[in-house]
Amino acid sequence: MSETVYDLAIIGGGINGCGIARDAAGRGLKVLLVEQDDLASATSSWSSKLIHGGLRYLEQYEFRLVREALQEREVLLKIAPHIIHPLEFILPHDQHMRPAWMVRIGLFMYDHIGGKISLPSSRTVSFPDAIYSAGLASAHKRGFFYSDAKVDDARLTVLNAIAARELGADVRVRTRLVDGKRKRDANEWCLTLHDVDSQASTTVFAKGIVNAAGPWVKHLLDDTLRVPTTSNVKLVKGSHIVVPRIHEHQHAYILQNDDKRVVFIIPYEEKFSLIGTTDIEVGAIADAAKISPAETDYLLRAVNRFVAKPVLESDIVWTYAGVRPLYDDGSDNPSEITRDYVLKVDHDHGALPLLSIFGGKITTYRRLAEHALQDLKPFYPAMKNEWTDKVRLPGGDIDSVLKTTQIRAEQYSSLPADFLRRLVMRHGSRADSILNGVATLNDLGKTFGQGANLLCEREIEFFIREEWARTAEDILWRRSKCGLHMDNAEREQASNFIADTVNRLMSKI
Ligand SMILES: Cc1cc2nc3c(=O)[nH]c(=O)nc-3n(C[C@H](O)[C@H](O)[C@H](O)COP(=O)(O)OP(=O)(O)OC[C@H]3O[C@@H](n4cnc5c(N)ncnc54)[C@H](O)[C@@H]3O)c2cc1C
Repeated sequence: MSETVYDLAIIGGGINGCGIARDAAGRGLKVLLVEQDDLASATSSWSSKLIHGGLRYLEQYEFRLVREALQEREVLLKIAPHIIHPLEFILPHDQHMRPAWMVRIGLFMYDHIGGKISLPSSRTVSFPDAIYSAGLASAHKRGFFYSDAKVDDARLTVLNAIAARELGADVRVRTRLVDGKRKRDANEWCLTLHDVDSQASTTVFAKGIVNAAGPWVKHLLDDTLRVPTTSNVKLVKGSHIVVPRIHEHQHAYILQNDDKRVVFIIPYEEKFSLIGTTDIEVGAIADAAKISPAETDYLLRAVNRFVAKPVLESDIVWTYAGVRPLYDDGSDNPSEITRDYVLKVDHDHGALPLLSIFGGKITTYRRLAEHALQDLKPFYPAMKNEWTDKVRLPGGDIDSVLKTTQIRAEQYSSLPADFLRRLVMRHGSRADSILNGVATLNDLGKTFGQGANLLCEREIEFFIREEWARTAEDILWRRSKCGLHMDNAEREQASNFIADTVNRLMSKI
C-alpha cells in the first residue's frame, strides 16, 4: 500500500492528461498520471498532426474554438520549435465549391480572428504555379494560400509528460485505473491501479481526479468510478493513408470533396504524403481499429479528383485509424459535431473533485489544461497561477531546427547532417544527451535503417530510460517514426533488439 496522498490523480496519458499534469505540477500540486498503455497510444497519435484553427469550423460558427486554436498556434510554435513547424496550405478552387469571394472572406476571418499572427497571411494564387499547383491536374485555374502548422503529436504528448516529471509528477505507464471510490471519512479518493505487465494491484489516494481518458471518458465515469453522467461522447472514426510524396514542395493541400467534406494532403516524414481523414460514427472504440476498404476508396477518390497522377491502392505504404471522442452535442452529421471541449466537474459537497474532459483537439490542449485547473481552483486554493504559455517544452530551448543542426553538424562532423537534423527534430536541445561523447558512427551503438532515419542504440536506450518506452511499437511508431522508413526485415531486427534492450534496462531499474 502506498502512503502517498496525491493532490491530483490524472487518468489518461494522451495530450490532455499530460498537458494537465505538466500545468498542475508547475502550480505546486502533487500529481500522479496513469496511462494504461503507452503515452499517446490512443487518439493523441491518431490525429492529422495539425496545429490549426480549423478553417472549416468557421462555417459551423465555431468562432470561440477557432479563435482559441489560432491563438494557441502562435503559443505552441514558440514553446516547441523542434516539433511544431509552420505549414503552408493551398486550397484549390473547384467549381463545386463556394464562390471565390466567400472563400476570401473566410480566409480574411481566419487571418484575423485570433489576433496578431506571425505566419504569412492568406492570398489568391493563379494556377498553373511552379510550386503551389505542383502535382495537381490542370483543370483548376486558381487556389488560395493560407498558413497553419504541423506537429509530431505523439512527441508533443511525451514532452508534456517529461516536463510534468521534471516538476515532480509521478508518471506511470502501463498502469490502469480499475476501481475508485470517494472515502468521505478520510476525505480522499481511494484508487486501485493495475500494472498491465506484472498484473499486480496497488492502492493510491488522491484529493481529486482528472478523467482524461479520451474515448474511454464515459466508461471511466459509469463503470470504473461509478459516477454516472448524462454527458456523452460520440465516437467518430478517422482514418489516414500514407503514400509516396505527391509533390516535392513543402506545402499541403486542403481539398474539398464533392460531399463538401475536406481531405488533406500533407507532406509527411519527408518522403511521404499523409492523406486524411474520414468521419464515421462508430458504436465502439474497437470498431475503429483499422481503416476499412470503403474509407480507403473514399480517400483515394477524394484525392484523385484533384491530382495529376492518380494515387493507387498499391501506393499505400501505411495506414492508421482511430476515434475522436467528441462531446455529444446532438448533431447527426459526424463532420458537424463540435470539435470544442466540454469540462464537467462532479464533487462531494465541495470536496473530492472529479473533472472529466469531453472532446478537444491537440491544438487546444494547453488552454484546455488552463481551463481545467481554473475549474479545480476552488478545491486547491493555494494553487499557483497560469504559467505554461511562455515556458518552452523540454528540448524546445533552441533558435530553430536549422541553426541547431548546423551547430551540431560542426560539433559532430563525422555524423551525417540529415541524421543530426532528424535527431534535433525529435529532441531539440535534448539531442545532446544522446550525442554526448560520440565521435564516430560506431559510438552510436547498433543501428537500424539508414540515412536521416537511422535509429541507433543510444537513442533506443534514451527512449526507454527517459521517455517511458517499453515496446518496439512505442519506439518505431510513436517516439520516432523510424518504423515507416524500414522494410519488414529491418523492422523485425529492430523490434527484437528493442525487446532485448527493454529487458536489460528494466531489470536494472
Ligand atoms: C482522425 C483524427 C484526426 C485528428 N486531427 C487533429 C488535428 O489535426 N489537430 C488537432 O488539433 N486535433 C486533431 N484530432 C483530435 C485530437 O487527436 C484529440 O482531441 C486528442 O488527441 C485527444 O486527446 P486525449 O488526451 O483526450 O485522448 P487520448 O489521446 O485518447 O488519451 C486518453 C488516454 O487515456 C488512457 N486511458 C483510458 N482509460 C484508462 C484507464 N482506466 N486507466 C489508465 N489510462 C486510461 C488511454 O489509454 C489513452 O491513452 C484528431 C483526432 C482524430 C481521431
